[in-house]
Amino acid sequence: MVLSYPSPQRLTVTQAEYQRAWVEINLTTLADNVRQIKRLLKPQTQLMAVIKADGYGHGAVMTAKTALQAGADWFAVATSQEGITLREAGIQAPILVLGAINSLEEIKAVVQYNLQPTLCSPQQALIFSDTLQQLGCDLPVHLNIDTGMSRLGTAWTEALEFVQFVRQLPHLELVSCYSHFATADDPDPSFMELQHQRFKEAIAQWQQHHLEPPMLHIANSAATLTDSCYHYDLVRVGLALYGLYPESHLRHKIPLKPALQIKARITQVKTIPPQSSVSYGRRFVCDRPLRIAVVGIGYADGVPRALTNQMEVLLRGQRVPQIGTVTMDQLMLDVTTIPDLQPGEIATLIGRDGQDVIPAEEWADKTNTISWEILCGFKQRLPRVYL
Ligand code: PLP
Repeated sequence: MVLSYPSPQRLTVTQAEYQRAWVEINLTTLADNVRQIKRLLKPQTQLMAVIKADGYGHGAVMTAKTALQAGADWFAVATSQEGITLREAGIQAPILVLGAINSLEEIKAVVQYNLQPTLCSPQQALIFSDTLQQLGCDLPVHLNIDTGMSRLGTAWTEALEFVQFVRQLPHLELVSCYSHFATADDPDPSFMELQHQRFKEAIAQWQQHHLEPPMLHIANSAATLTDSCYHYDLVRVGLALYGLYPESHLRHKIPLKPALQIKARITQVKTIPPQSSVSYGRRFVCDRPLRIAVVGIGYADGVPRALTNQMEVLLRGQRVPQIGTVTMDQLMLDVTTIPDLQPGEIATLIGRDGQDVIPAEEWADKTNTISWEILCGFKQRLPRVYL
């Protein structure tokens, strides 16, 4: 039996037997993480599970269903298309679209699929209001207040006018105002505190003008773990949901476990003579006979090529070094320490095998990036297997 990719994006464990490589996601772990985060929140604070970028590579639909059962109240996605995918899978919880929505067609889709857009500016609010007038319907909306991220949003100094403007426009139901931290994962809290101060100033202004504040939110995973003063009406949690900590100084806050593992099969084992070079560019040359194994996963699956000669892989519970350039679909290992290794055996690239663990953070550190990028880098070609 041969399975083709990428169409079978969800495979059973048995089907994974036939795959060269796959992403394994433990839904029980994911649900445990959600419960741990919920435990940190006051009863009135809601949990918005951030499941953009296909649930940080975990599969948005399965993540959403699992998170909902474990107590998530809201979902956040980056694009309207990501929201539509959830609605088509039967998810009924409120969905906030974090990214900008500009085209008329997209506004219509947002209405049709009952999504809740972010409005970034008065101009955009006007376009929405006019379009909704033509469509003859109302829409719940969320305002993005820029307190220092300098990405989407209206500056906190103009937040009062923005809220007043939106409140008097027809067809827009103001649900929430939110902001986003630029440095919540930095052990130095000074810029986060400055952004928080600006957010509080904006809220104080609304109160001075007797404007009933809408729902408020500012916390991502790091801020949620850092202090309950950032929690407000809801927290927007991504990374922690998947069991990763934004920074190691936050590890002691709650116990989280990574839900995702990357596995691939050994496709060939052989011995190469001394002075052989391995892979493109001859970046590894052996000085003795070497037992090597080929693994069926490469940079087109999301293994960074920058890990060349730097990464380790777990085989039979022990770490073995990767050698030579990581290629598009395959990479090689030095398996001298496992002389009886057989093709078909499973290598763990990220995750646990026996007593040892290779966390996504290890790849991030070695490639000078962040674990968010590593998780989002696993391509659709890798089937998702749910445990
Ligand atoms: N809120 C916004 C606006 C975001 O862009 C993100 C992610 O990038 C999050 C919340 C979730 O962040 P994290 O994954 O750090 O929890």
